Amino acid sequence: MGRGRKRINRRTRGFLRGLSRVTGRLVRTARRWRLSAASLAIILLSGLLFFTPWGCTPNAEMNGELPPADRVIRVNICPGVDQVTIRASEPPAYFTSLDGTSRALGLPRNTGVTLTLGSDGWRIGGTPLGRGELVIRPATVGSVSVENISYRGQFRFVATSNGRFDVVNDLDLDDYLAGVLAKELLSGWLPSTYQAQAVIARTYALYEKKSGSPNRRFDVWATTASQVYGGIPAESAKSREAASRTAGLVVGYGPVGREKIFKAYFSACCGGISQSVQDAFGEPLIEPLTEQNVGTLCSASSKFNWGPVVVSKEDLTRRFRAWGQRRANRMQNVGTVRSVEIADRNRFGRPVRFNVYDSNGLRYTLMSEELRWAVNTDAAEGTKLFSSFMENIINEPDRVRFVGCHGNGHGVGMCQWCAEARARAGMTYEDIVVAAYPGSKLVRAY
Ligand SMILES: [Zn+2]
Repeated sequence: MGRGRKRINRRTRGFLRGLSRVTGRLVRTARRWRLSAASLAIILLSGLLFFTPWGCTPNAEMNGELPPADRVIRVNICPGVDQVTIRASEPPAYFTSLDGTSRALGLPRNTGVTLTLGSDGWRIGGTPLGRGELVIRPATVGSVSVENISYRGQFRFVATSNGRFDVVNDLDLDDYLAGVLAKELLSGWLPSTYQAQAVIARTYALYEKKSGSPNRRFDVWATTASQVYGGIPAESAKSREAASRTAGLVVGYGPVGREKIFKAYFSACCGGISQSVQDAFGEPLIEPLTEQNVGTLCSASSKFNWGPVVVSKEDLTRRFRAWGQRRANRMQNVGTVRSVEIADRNRFGRPVRFNVYDSNGLRYTLMSEELRWAVNTDAAEGTKLFSSFMENIINEPDRVRFVGCHGNGHGVGMCQWCAEARARAGMTYEDIVVAAYPGSKLVRAY
């Protein structure tokens, strides 16, 4: 308690010192520009209104059901590492959660230095930085890189266990999207596809932010586990334009005026038939995440047709056991695989349930995405399934052939290749989003 108060006092004193420094500087600048106190106050007030949420007119569709206007997204860019290389072109500021006092971090310019976490706290090069959650705030945008990638916003270094830590990049949601879209889409794709993806990626990120556990120190991963994010180098003019043009728009579902955002799943290519969120992941079914039959709409994708993929039963057994071990499920004890069969298909014919029979006469039932993950565990390149959408499985004496395969990814929600096909047919980004999520509508989150 006492320590907490001392910390708050120190923070308050630091804040007041900073405030008086800033005020002094402003007054000096005003004198130099020959501004009166009144005009300085007007400039400051309009700046304040512009940069704070009070300056924005709340949209009529914004309500308690939608996420708050808090727009910072926390991206785990380096999970569970024991060291990272940091490089700065200008001295950044740093502080820890235990201390809270911001200081300049005297790094050699443009030289990589190693950050580690030991029993005595954080160390960069040989310099101790203290304990607690470490924050490094770049002096200017993009002046600090982690593992040779520069990012906007700030970096938080969060201890996990055994000297390991996560590097979390906290930044404005729309800046984050600019670093996501160009990683998720092809550079030659149309602006409408980028804009549709911006709305969906924003929705996905806000949903993750809103629904994550309160103890979690980040909202999203920087990989396909959430959405692929590559910092400033991943941005393009098209991705920045799409993020700013759609700023604040998300996809919602529900009664008019009470729309809620949902986990806006998307994947590369549905292969002609998508699958429902219930079939793919066992999550509650909602209308926007039901299966659709789009025929050959996304046939421009090189993954629209692929296969066969042939795997020996011995190899398949090894993969299933490894997957079972990692997921701590009964598949870890599977006997030698005898056969893999399609147990159920959705109303358009895409497999949604698989049965694996083993040499002990036991049956293991897997959901569609579970089969894909299990088959792809520790698999050599060229023997992986791009999706769980196949027309047939042929069980030979020693091997299994997955034939007539289609699509790339889980196939839930928006198909990126379908989106591009719709953009080429002249659809707007709003229409592309609604076509991908039946019954949905675009609403404003901020
Ligand atoms: Zn598709």
